Amino acid sequence: MTINVEDFTHIRETSLIKIKEAKDGGQKVVGTYCTYCPQEMILAAGAIPVSLCGTSEKPIAAAEEVLPRNLCPLIKSSYGFAATDTCPFFHFSDLIIGETTCDGKKKMFEIMQDIKPVHVMQLPHLHQLDAALKLWITELRRLRSVLETELGVEITEEKLWEAIDKVNRETAAVKAICDLNKGEPVLSGLDLLTVTWSRNFSSDKDRMFSMLKELQEELAASRQAGSAPKPRVLLTGCPVGVGSEKVIRLVEEAGGCIVAMENCSGYKTLELQTDTGLSDPIVALAQKYMSIPCSCMSPNPYRLELLQRMIKEFRADAVVDLTWQACHTYNIEAFEVGKLVRGNGLPYLHLESDYSSSDLETLKIRIEALLEMVA
Ligand code: SF4
Ligand code: SF4
Repeated sequence: MTINVEDFTHIRETSLIKIKEAKDGGQKVVGTYCTYCPQEMILAAGAIPVSLCGTSEKPIAAAEEVLPRNLCPLIKSSYGFAATDTCPFFHFSDLIIGETTCDGKKKMFEIMQDIKPVHVMQLPHLHQLDAALKLWITELRRLRSVLETELGVEITEEKLWEAIDKVNRETAAVKAICDLNKGEPVLSGLDLLTVTWSRNFSSDKDRMFSMLKELQEELAASRQAGSAPKPRVLLTGCPVGVGSEKVIRLVEEAGGCIVAMENCSGYKTLELQTDTGLSDPIVALAQKYMSIPCSCMSPNPYRLELLQRMIKEFRADAVVDLTWQACHTYNIEAFEVGKLVRGNGLPYLHLESDYSSSDLETLKIRIEALLEMVA
């Protein structure tokens, strides 16, 4: 049996049916918004983790009745889905986990508590400080006891290691697929997004792992050399999902190829593996999650290190840095990112946008101008 990217487009719907059946059978569902949430802990609790990040413009108008208009569209979309009860994954969630990442998100979680139970983890904003790691370990232990109380289960060390193993395997399998694009690209940016984003909705980690392995083998075997080379574009910045992929679409319509994404939908966490050699799984998880190079960290040197490696390894010809409107942390980091990219002798384009289609024409012109610099 062969597998292709198209199979990943159905994951959301099939998972939804399975989640509904699992709920009817008494299994719990936990909604998450950010890559800092250790899904291993949810899996070890016997619950299904589901990703709730809003990537559609649809519920934003409803969100703006409560939240300020001048807020990142990802936060407004996420809250709008919750407020209008139009996301089935949110609807099925018994508990929501948030984190104190950016100001907008953490304040939004305060309001979301009126709709569903929300547990917010206090995320320290420094990668390389012992005290920060200690606080994060404490927060992970607190999450463990919140999950145990709310879901009425015991999270044993054995279950944690088992879940860690599953997530490590899945992460490595996604990375192996993304890495194929280091050579002649086998996946367009839209296909990359479909695979990396859709897998977050799978309710069955073992099945997802098999699908990813199969796809990687299929793609590696089907690689064809000799097609006309396109400008290789690296996308960085704020998270993108299916529904908010307009920049990827525009780059590819203009003749470029997004060979890799550094953002949360892409490579940002794919190099991170939980260290299974440590004796305490909570410490091992804390170390992994504290290393995520998100702009809410201050300073955030790991993102620049990762970008530098990716520029070389994916042989980027240009970098597009996407900031969602009112995302101050990514917006400010654009200055350092631009310096790094230009220092590599590459053209750099920083775009600030939202989920609407009102700026498509302007974006298109700017992207075409960037690609002309490469040609
Ligand atoms: S960009 Fe940062 S805050 Fe947003 S999902 Fe990723 S890790 Fe979380
Ligand atoms: S894109 Fe920026 S403002 Fe929006 S949720 Fe992520 S970190 Fe916060």
